[in-house]
Amino acid sequence: MKLYTPDFYPEFHCISSRCRHSCCVGWEIDLDKDTLAKYAGVSGSLGRELERNIAREADGTAHFILQGREERCPFLREDGLCRLILELGEESLSQICTDHPRFRNFFSGRVEMGLGLCCEEAARLVVSRQEPFRLILHEGDGAPETMTDQEQTFFPWRQRLLDTAQDRNQPFLDRLAELAPVELLTPARWLDTFRQLEVLDDSWLRLLEKMEAWAVPLSEECALPLEQLLCCFLYRHLAGALEDGCLMERAAFSVLSVGMIFTAACALENSPVPGLAALAEAARMYSSEIEYSDQNVQALLEFLEEME
Ligand code: SF4
Repeated sequence: MKLYTPDFYPEFHCISSRCRHSCCVGWEIDLDKDTLAKYAGVSGSLGRELERNIAREADGTAHFILQGREERCPFLREDGLCRLILELGEESLSQICTDHPRFRNFFSGRVEMGLGLCCEEAARLVVSRQEPFRLILHEGDGAPETMTDQEQTFFPWRQRLLDTAQDRNQPFLDRLAELAPVELLTPARWLDTFRQLEVLDDSWLRLLEKMEAWAVPLSEECALPLEQLLCCFLYRHLAGALEDGCLMERAAFSVLSVGMIFTAACALENSPVPGLAALAEAARMYSSEIEYSDQNVQALLEFLEEME
């Protein structure tokens, strides 16, 4: 089995106490069986605290009981540090805490990992990059990679889309128009569709309202960070087409996502040419609200399918 990641993947480091939108706040934290067994062996007051703060569901799953209106992890300190890391070491963390914001896509002969944009540090890293998006092989047994017939068609097709996205001889808008229907290039027209989706945080709804005033074309001055975001969406979401066959819808979803992030950044910064900080924040919000909700991604894919 081979392991691939984007080349910038090893540069990611969690900024923990400096993080303004910690993944330990507002997200359910599932506990896998190995972690539960580890926590059951913790003695003393921390062991009792762990037991008190774990909810066990009838279906056998378990998660931490989040605290307060903000829904904080019970082991997140006020200064943003994790008590479990401090008192038991990093190896005490559950799989989901160890992995976040990393994601994995599985194929017959390879695993592809990447960074989810719902993490503010991952979003900052992505929009700050200058170099083209490129995959690197981390691990492999030296044997040729096995691929299904479908995958043999899929990988070159995906590479063509990534090449189009990164063809810096073309204006960015032309590249987008090659990847998806031109109607998607005016994201402000799709705000009503986004209002109908599941909402995680009311600040997203307020931002959608502000975006009404920003029906401006994507600025070529933002081409580089938008290209980086586009490649991240294509890399993460095209893989799902091997399961559901939604090849063109997933490419269109990636284009629409980049347009929405640009428009959200304009609204956040009150500028037709938003800077990197606004683009990263808009990417974080969009990813948390849309990309990390299977229900919302599915609803958008169905909407894009009807458009064709
Ligand atoms: S959101 Fe990212 S940077 Fe913030 S605490 Fe989580 S992993 Fe770390």
